[in-house]
Amino acid sequence: AKELGRNNYQFFSAEMNDYLFERLQTEQDLRQALKRNEFLLFYQPQIDVKTQRIIGFEALLRWLHPVKGLLGPLTFIDVAEKTSLIIAIGEWVLNQACLQTYQWQQQFNNNWRVSVNLSAMQFNQQLLLEQVGRSLQASGLPAASLELEITETAMLKDIMETIPLLTALKEMGVGLAIDDFGTGYSSLSYLKNFPINTLKIDKSFVDEIVDNPKDAAIARTIVQLAENLGLRTIAEGVETLEQVEMLTTMGCQELQGYYFSKPLPVGEVERLLANGNEL
Ligand code: C2E
Ligand code: CA
Ligand code: CA
Ligand code: CA
Repeated sequence: AKELGRNNYQFFSAEMNDYLFERLQTEQDLRQALKRNEFLLFYQPQIDVKTQRIIGFEALLRWLHPVKGLLGPLTFIDVAEKTSLIIAIGEWVLNQACLQTYQWQQQFNNNWRVSVNLSAMQFNQQLLLEQVGRSLQASGLPAASLELEITETAMLKDIMETIPLLTALKEMGVGLAIDDFGTGYSSLSYLKNFPINTLKIDKSFVDEIVDNPKDAAIARTIVQLAENLGLRTIAEGVETLEQVEMLTTMGCQELQGYYFSKPLPVGEVERLLANGNEL
């Protein structure tokens, strides 16, 4: 951070300077991390309620930092987004998730799906279509086995761009899920115009679904809304049997959460799949 120079230095308060320094440091580290291949993906199983078996995985980014150890995305994603490094990182995630999932499909003779999170930054880029196309082609993964998780906030950032982009992705055969559904600026009218397949019920509604009738009512309404629109629902953050039972009764088709499994490193997923995908 020396390049900032002495004269600029004095304009910042000490805290501001600490913050900027920390951010610059993280940004430099992130750049290095890509070069040094320090990122990895964990995979969290998604369970089909009907069969009680794994139907897919959500790919979740991790960073094996040389000093700080294994870091979750919440510690670095915002810096990556503010510095546009998320574009390169996001492309790595897409590539990696497609390659890995195709390998598992071949190895275990199955058609598991992989869900990949997109940041709002990636979503605004026309580049995304090329990235997704390249990842599918390079990996051999069928487009139908890839689902992109996009937040409402990202979708609504630039509606004029969103519709053609989503439409093009859908035409490629890629699945589209609204992540953390119900927590953003939910506007029902976009459900009519956006070619999405899946609503992902946010963990915040699942957490107290058993004790709080309002959360239960919201979850039930989301499932019914999805049903009426011909969409699939998946609930995230499912931790207890009671939550499984309630969501199942409501008609939610897929479940994901610690009750079934935490996000797992590749080796552990393979052990699980080799054991006949039994959780
Ligand atoms: P998300 O998309 O809402 O992902 C779900 C988060 O909840 C994950 O945290 C997961 O580990 C955690 N989780 C899953 N089941 C349970 C549960 O039963 N109980 C509890 N307490 N937590 C559960 P994680 O991996 O730390 O990811 C945090 C967020 O970072 C994600 O939230 C997503 O928004 C973002 N993220 C993760 N990977 C990527 C990525 O590759 N690209 C982008 N742009 N964002 C990512
Ligand atoms: Ca997600
Ligand atoms: Ca989510
Ligand atoms: Ca969430």
